[in-house]
Amino acid sequence: MHLAHRSIFKSTKKPSMLTVKSFTFSPVQENTYVLYNEHNECCIIDPGCYFPEEREELKTGIEKTGLTPVLLLNTHCHLDHVFGNKFVHDTWGLTLHLHEKEKPVLDFAPQSGLMYQLPFDNYEGPLVYLKPGNLIKIGEDELDIRFTPGHSPGSISFYHEAGGFMIGGDVLFNGSVGRTDLPGGNMSTLVNSIQTQFFTLPDETKVYSGHGPVTTVGFEKMNNPFVKMY
Ligand SMILES: [Zn+2]
Ligand SMILES: [Zn+2]
Repeated sequence: MHLAHRSIFKSTKKPSMLTVKSFTFSPVQENTYVLYNEHNECCIIDPGCYFPEEREELKTGIEKTGLTPVLLLNTHCHLDHVFGNKFVHDTWGLTLHLHEKEKPVLDFAPQSGLMYQLPFDNYEGPLVYLKPGNLIKIGEDELDIRFTPGHSPGSISFYHEAGGFMIGGDVLFNGSVGRTDLPGGNMSTLVNSIQTQFFTLPDETKVYSGHGPVTTVGFEKMNNPFVKMY
């Protein structure tokens, strides 16, 4: 009884973890994610804000939550994920972090924008290349960089173990997978990325995708028809 009582008062400091805030932007309905820690430092992943009012929505959302942006990340550089890179750079002075193999994809994005009738000004600041296996730090919180090509040649995903979630870009969707018909895309590479980098995570791991609703590793293992085929 006495011991049991004492155990209640044992220190149970909660491990720190990142909170996810999401926005959906542009005619392509791309998900932009803002992850922030308990000190209100945040990173912005794939800012897809296209229209001026969407850029305002991102800025207001960040300001109203009292956040200070400290990092700009791209999972990959298809146009819908990079529309707002320049805005984020101009507004908060952040440098773009991406995988080196996405550099040609980033360079091609404005041309691609013209093809889709969505012209935009590309980010032209300095680039920092992320290496798979490296850890990104936001204060004390860590994001594990996972190399997940197949949809795009240099796609990376960001795994936050303490929070039990993966920011996966366009690799794995709720009930679907990313298209592989764009330059540098490959279906078997994509399926391999999903099997080795997503399906090896705990079933309850949440997957925040570049489009559509959040899902979990366990749900996709059971139900995803595209990965089951292989
Ligand atoms: Zn994409
Ligand atoms: Zn996309």
